[in-house]
Amino acid sequence: MRPNVLKSDNILMKINSVPEMKVETKDNGFGGEVILTVVIVNFNSVEFILESLRAIERLTVSKWKMVICDNGSSHDDFVRLRNGVSRYQNVTLLARTQTEFGSYGHGEALNVLARHIDTRYGAILDADCLPLMFGWDSFLISKLDGEVKIAGTPVAHNTPGDSKRDRSFPLMFLCLFDAEAVRIDDIDFRPRSITAGEDTGWRMRETIEKQGYKGFCLVGQNTRTYRQGPLAATICDEYYTDASCERLICAHFGRGSNPRSGKYKTGAVSHADDKGKWLDACASIIDREIEVAIRSGRLALDYNACPSCGSEESDKEFIAPDWLFNTPGFWNVVKCRTCGLRRTNPHPKMEAIGEYYPDNYGPYQVSAAGGSSGGGIRARLREQTLRQHFGYFRERFPASLLWRLITKPFVRMFRVNLLPILSEDFQHRKLLEIGCSHGERLAYLKHLGWEVQGVEFSELAAEKARARGIDCKIARIEDCDFQDATYDAVIMSMVLEHLADPVATLTRVAEWLRPGGTLLLSVPNFDGVEARLFGQYAYTLQVPTHLTHFDPRTLTALLVKTGFSDVRILSQGFHRDLKAGLQTYLLDHPHSPGRHLLHAPQIFFRLAGILFGRLGISSRISVSAIRSVRNETS
Ligand SMILES: [Zn+2]
Repeated sequence: MRPNVLKSDNILMKINSVPEMKVETKDNGFGGEVILTVVIVNFNSVEFILESLRAIERLTVSKWKMVICDNGSSHDDFVRLRNGVSRYQNVTLLARTQTEFGSYGHGEALNVLARHIDTRYGAILDADCLPLMFGWDSFLISKLDGEVKIAGTPVAHNTPGDSKRDRSFPLMFLCLFDAEAVRIDDIDFRPRSITAGEDTGWRMRETIEKQGYKGFCLVGQNTRTYRQGPLAATICDEYYTDASCERLICAHFGRGSNPRSGKYKTGAVSHADDKGKWLDACASIIDREIEVAIRSGRLALDYNACPSCGSEESDKEFIAPDWLFNTPGFWNVVKCRTCGLRRTNPHPKMEAIGEYYPDNYGPYQVSAAGGSSGGGIRARLREQTLRQHFGYFRERFPASLLWRLITKPFVRMFRVNLLPILSEDFQHRKLLEIGCSHGERLAYLKHLGWEVQGVEFSELAAEKARARGIDCKIARIEDCDFQDATYDAVIMSMVLEHLADPVATLTRVAEWLRPGGTLLLSVPNFDGVEARLFGQYAYTLQVPTHLTHFDPRTLTALLVKTGFSDVRILSQGFHRDLKAGLQTYLLDHPHSPGRHLLHAPQIFFRLAGILFGRLGISSRISVSAIRSVRNETS
């Protein structure tokens, strides 16, 4: 017997079991042929549209693109939409002014959009309808055959026994069709008679049926009647399942999306609360879907436990896209419940991580500067600082209390830039830089008398380092195997956050260092003021290439755990963090008062950077730690 309502709260459990249908695996979104065009009309519904985009980006298995037609929304709504889609390379935004309103205006916009569907499949999505199943597209495509050319959502049940509505053909909350069989570009989508049930798109059904084709309908339910399943806490949405009512395919916020609807007028429920609840519920369903897809190998991402303590229990802090390079995907930043270390989870598979580093990745660019020479007072100050505080140039200058005082203010700058102290009793002065990029720092250290060696993952950058005469190995640090107790200093500048298992690397680095040797590293600081202010918009977040997100406490714990002591932390002031974080934040919040700050002169951001650094609250830290001498007695 076929049940016609969701029977239990166990939908997600069922999703968790191996599905009987064939679901293709999804690649990581690079390359391949686009086979699906999704179209949406926007009319003052930017929040819903951006959620739809996130859902589609995460759950769609086919290579897709989207065309959005804005139907004359308010300036505010349109600006937010334009900003929100700007990071998607596969989304086109059209803008038009409605001449008719309501369903008629909606139909006009669909007429425009229909002409943009030029792929094997097309899908029409209502602004407030969210796909909730991983592979929703391939599920609907699997329902198409020689006869069935469209699959999607019918009218949902409003009340038990409501049989007046025709549920035999999908409507356009979410429908996917065979765009080669069904030509929709000359269909007029405007309604003929709403009262007669011939609403937006009724001609689509007429056209399809005239050609002798059929539609496939999902099973629609409504939480006003059926308060079950993961959406039970919201009161006004429709949700759609497969025929067995076991798999949740999508949900439609429906009439609830109108803030003027009756039930909001009574004041019993607030529209904003209801919408927020619904979006939250959908977001957690999508997260679970992604988790299941990864665990069953259908999504090319990996999960990891906390690299510090091994716990799998974590809380999601937020979800963020790659604001920097606009690569595909949304990434969860989670915080370990046991030790508090944050990580990007799930994250790209390590063998595919290279795709997320575009050719113009900043650190691979050779900077114009980079000379260590230069004369005059600057060079003198630099050399005296190096002599009086870091142990260099002993043969050239005598120790001098006066110079020591004069150069004191510059010490911090050298420390922040990870300059190792050259102590007299070192016999070898051997130094390794992990992630040396094009070798600028190593060339300078070589000039200062170190015997230097580098490791670099980017071949391009490594070749440039070699061209400078640096001994540079092209490898991932995870694949390196140096001799134990070889180096007096190891430098890792903005590297550790890129590693999925920083513990393993730090443990190895501790072995490569001589006891008493120095590790110098820098990482973004998740506790910094810019990171706190901007959260998912912070410039230093940089998901998904940043896999672990440190703060002084979690980093210190990790260093102590991996064999280091005497951990010292300095805050780096970097002017770009505040400005870039603000710019990204304003994409989603164009009316924030912070927008006025953008016009501030550059000196303001520079001073703010210096101030944050001095106060120890900036979003980058430089750390030094000493390899413990604990094993010497054994
Ligand atoms: Zn942990």
